[in-house]
Amino acid sequence: MKSLVLIASLALACLLNHATAASCSAAMVSEPRVGSWCNQTWVNYFWNAYDFDKADWDNGFGFDNACDTSRPLGRTMNAIYVLNYADGPGSKSRDDYSGSILHWGGNYSMREIDELDARCGDGSKRAYTRWGVAIDNYTQLYLPFFYNENVVERAATLLHESRHADWCGHNGNDGSNRCPSRSESCDESFTDGCSGIGSPSGRGASGYQALWLWWFTVSADGITGTSVRKAFARDEANRVLSTMFDVNPCFQIASNGATISTC
Ligand SMILES: [Zn+2]
Repeated sequence: MKSLVLIASLALACLLNHATAASCSAAMVSEPRVGSWCNQTWVNYFWNAYDFDKADWDNGFGFDNACDTSRPLGRTMNAIYVLNYADGPGSKSRDDYSGSILHWGGNYSMREIDELDARCGDGSKRAYTRWGVAIDNYTQLYLPFFYNENVVERAATLLHESRHADWCGHNGNDGSNRCPSRSESCDESFTDGCSGIGSPSGRGASGYQALWLWWFTVSADGITGTSVRKAFARDEANRVLSTMFDVNPCFQIASNGATISTC
């Protein structure tokens, strides 16, 4: 029993240590805010919707100023705006799953993500989601998410992780037909990507990511979908399409969303 307590307290110490941005090495550059979300009501709503906790976002991660886009929290809020408002700023209820993934992707991410935590990470991953365990499910976001991804890529990564939080693990990079990136984040195909006990069937995390980016390229609204951000979405969609599926989807997308056959 004593050793159990000791292990538990050591684990807690490690977690606290990791949740200190001062110990991360990152050039905390700022970026323009997308839309006008910097007000207490908006921040409170999404803070609760994604189950942020102070202990996971203080010590330099931005808890003291959610509007500061040089900090991980502000950069995450910026991505949350893009994910939830790319289809237009109009009011939509939390249970609205009509239309395209650009319309319901934000609702899906709020429904599925158990809690959103900031960590330094070891540089190898953008994010990680633990799901399907009885006690503590979570999505952790790491430095490459905050600072190596542009705001559109971050929004798509949040949607990717929310697919995992819906108990859908990757089923690719296996057998004799491994994906070009040889990554554990690969799906079998653009429309088949889930595995694991109790998992849903159908499109997986990388498939959700690519599909949302494709829709963003075509029809993101005037506030989120500047020509620069639509180009970000096109390029990221094409990266996923060309590297993250065991079965080659055989297309890339053009700036207008049209498909370009590659096989
Ligand atoms: Zn993944």
